[in-house]
Amino acid sequence: MKADIIIIGSGPAGLFAAIEAGGKERRVLVLERNSCAGKKLLISGAGQCNLTHDGDIKDFLNFYGDNGRFVKHALFKFSNENLIEFFKKNGLKLICNEGGKVFPETLKSSSVLEVLLKECRKKDVNIKYNQRVKEALHSKESGLFYIKTEDSEYESKYLVIATGGKSYGNTGSTGDGYIFAQKLGHTIEKPAPALAPIYIKGYDFKELSGLSFENRPISLWRNNKKIRSSSGDVLLTHKNISGPGILNFSRYVLPGDIVKINFVGAKSEEEFRSSFIKKVTLNGKLLVKTILKEFQLPKRFTDKLLELLNIPEDHRCAELNKKTRSKLIEMLISFPMEVEGLGEFHLAMATRGGISLKEVSPKTMESRIVRGLYFAGEVLDIDGDTGGYNIQAAISMGRLAADSISQKEEEGK
Ligand SMILES: Cc1cc2nc3c(=O)[nH]c(=O)nc-3n(C[C@H](O)[C@H](O)[C@H](O)COP(=O)(O)OP(=O)(O)OC[C@H]3O[C@@H](n4cnc5c(N)ncnc54)[C@H](O)[C@@H]3O)c2cc1C
Repeated sequence: MKADIIIIGSGPAGLFAAIEAGGKERRVLVLERNSCAGKKLLISGAGQCNLTHDGDIKDFLNFYGDNGRFVKHALFKFSNENLIEFFKKNGLKLICNEGGKVFPETLKSSSVLEVLLKECRKKDVNIKYNQRVKEALHSKESGLFYIKTEDSEYESKYLVIATGGKSYGNTGSTGDGYIFAQKLGHTIEKPAPALAPIYIKGYDFKELSGLSFENRPISLWRNNKKIRSSSGDVLLTHKNISGPGILNFSRYVLPGDIVKINFVGAKSEEEFRSSFIKKVTLNGKLLVKTILKEFQLPKRFTDKLLELLNIPEDHRCAELNKKTRSKLIEMLISFPMEVEGLGEFHLAMATRGGISLKEVSPKTMESRIVRGLYFAGEVLDIDGDTGGYNIQAAISMGRLAADSISQKEEEGK
């Protein structure tokens, strides 16, 4: 079967590329391995789909780790405002929560997918399901791409690879795109889980599962040097530490690193230390656990700290020796935890690594190696923070890829 443009993958990147490419008397074909489109999109944002953020688009670049600059052009050409406008125009109102996360008013990701599929139909996009691509080749002689699935063969002038990353493989994103890209001459930066919970050596907080701490400073230490700091919500689970602050941080973390959490949220470690010492010294008769109440930490948490330091329930401040006092201060303001590893791909909301950005033009999303080959979405070495940054990037990149194909056609190159 022949098409003008073949898009592999019907996630947000592939569908948006299809919408943009369709409706121009061109045969646009989407090949999807599943029996339905957008499986990952459907589970995104816990089924509510946080599809973008309402912040300034210029600030978005800070939310894609060290590779943020690559998505600048795509994001500026189709920004969060454009995305919100697109859905509004197509009958789906979006709403914004206190933190700036944008969701469909229905709070159902299926509403987002419905709009995308409706637009595909309007634009005569042909989506073929149950078509897992096995091979994607390019012939220099004919300038065409030859795509094989288990039961069919396809050819096209342009190919867009939008197969996603490698996380939550049961949604269909299992890293096939890396194999196609590699065969077509591209380099793959080693894929690893991103937006993943962090496992801690000798994890102390198993029984505190479910406790969360809002907007706490977090720092990362390697070889006794602080290499990064940020802040965000922290969640203690029965197996690991998680929550948006930790998930966003996980991109930088390696086994053996030390993650320190400032549970009291104090701005200055020194000031906190001296005020704590003063308080304990002036209130010798008070119980240590009473002093801890002042920090508005969950009781289960402060009880755990006392247990870890072998401080009895009825211990008074005057009885705290210097060493234990110092350890308690450390636990409150920079609790050190040694990283054992990151949650595996099945627990990670995104994939870091992927198709090397050096070999793809950020202005067009076209391969610098094979003409007519385009990439979009998480298959590239781009991963964003939680907050809607990944879906926005996937959509903006999909749109840019299709736009660039149209431009190339118009210019008759
Ligand atoms: C649990 C969870 C929650 C998330 N929540 C959010 C959120 O709220 N906000 C946000 O911004 N991001 C969120 N993300 C991340 C976001 O969903 C992804 O970054 C985004 O879906 C990537 O889009 P994509 O189009 O690049 O790839 P995908 O959505 O992964 O789509 C790729 C498609 O390609 C298909 N495919 C793969 N290989 C083949 C092949 N060989 N042949 C044919 N088809 C193939 C797959 O079946 C899939 O349908 C979440 C992720 C997870 C796992």
